[in-house]
Amino acid sequence: MDITKLLRGRTVVDVFAIGIAVLSVAVGVSAMSADSAEAESTAASASLENQTTFAPAPVAKSETATSGVAITPEGGTELWSGPEQDPYFRIHEGMALGFTHRQDDWLFVTTNCNDTAWVRADDVTIVAPGKQQALGNGFDVSEAVVVLDAGHGDRDWGGVGPSGLSEKSVNLDIANRVSILMKSGHDVDWATGAVTAGSTVSAFRDVVVTRSVDGPNDGDFEANLTYRASLATAAAADAFVSIHNNTVPRIDTDIPGSEVFYSTAVDGSDRLAGIIYEELLLSLGAFEADWSGGELLGARARLNPDTEEDYYGLLRRATVPSVIVEGVYISEPDEEALLETEAFRQAYAEAVYRGVVRFLTTDDAGAEPNRPEYFYDDAGTVSGSVCVVPEQP
Ligand SMILES: [Zn+2]
Repeated sequence: MDITKLLRGRTVVDVFAIGIAVLSVAVGVSAMSADSAEAESTAASASLENQTTFAPAPVAKSETATSGVAITPEGGTELWSGPEQDPYFRIHEGMALGFTHRQDDWLFVTTNCNDTAWVRADDVTIVAPGKQQALGNGFDVSEAVVVLDAGHGDRDWGGVGPSGLSEKSVNLDIANRVSILMKSGHDVDWATGAVTAGSTVSAFRDVVVTRSVDGPNDGDFEANLTYRASLATAAAADAFVSIHNNTVPRIDTDIPGSEVFYSTAVDGSDRLAGIIYEELLLSLGAFEADWSGGELLGARARLNPDTEEDYYGLLRRATVPSVIVEGVYISEPDEEALLETEAFRQAYAEAVYRGVVRFLTTDDAGAEPNRPEYFYDDAGTVSGSVCVVPEQP
């Protein structure tokens, strides 16, 4: 990792953040973290535009958001080749389409295959972008926006266990469970990890799942890596968490061999990984198994030795704090058997939920992240060349 590059980035962002802080006083933009200068710039300029006609300016109202996520409604919605042109395809209901550009009542969206198209703003439910609040004690969870990624999908099964359980289905179910947790208030016993209905932690403002169970084929559809990452960017998400399970362990371990990969380019990602790792150990370590692990456990990062960029495409495209969670080894009989159970999936989901809450609302450092390693293998991702945009029947 190039430390000078990081330091330079930090300086630029800090100077920028001071500028935003001044603007904030003027137009009522809430305090923002230093993680997404681009998003801050968009939000601030939009507010200033509004300021010329309305005072005080509303920030990121869904009716006027120039970026965000469009959720396709029941019955699907038309894709158009351009504003006021012809619709050419009815995309399936329950899909999340990021947009970073708007023309009047038209949104320029990215599909699951990373194609672009226009939709009518009136036809969809709009998730307005996150406010980029400062992390820590004053963070308002009721304004948080999180994007959850259910790893793999459709013909990309991901890892498959010895009795046939696939990552794509398990990951989807766990992501859905995290989403359900985030959509209502809870009390958390941080010592035991118990998560119960309550009001200590409020419901998150918006939770977007890349492959939603409300979508085509109950969420089992293909989603391009660029598309997955684009949702987090368009939503200016406070955190982006991709849910996976692992294969091909290297060693036997006494504790779950959980690994959480972080983006080396976006500040805070390593801390998010370390905190989620701690919570995974708390939740999953309560179960009995002959655990297995990789050459390292915990928060990790892998770099392409040629480019020094993140090895994983999802993390390389990250613009918000982003991690890939590899909970346990689905390839191992014991761990596959646990992944078959609701109790274990719920424990995994609660760990991710608690991890994100701690990341947003505390100054906790989390488990010390491992230093980034060069990675020489080929991840062997499924090509997106025949990716299909699901049509509404
Ligand atoms: Zn995976």
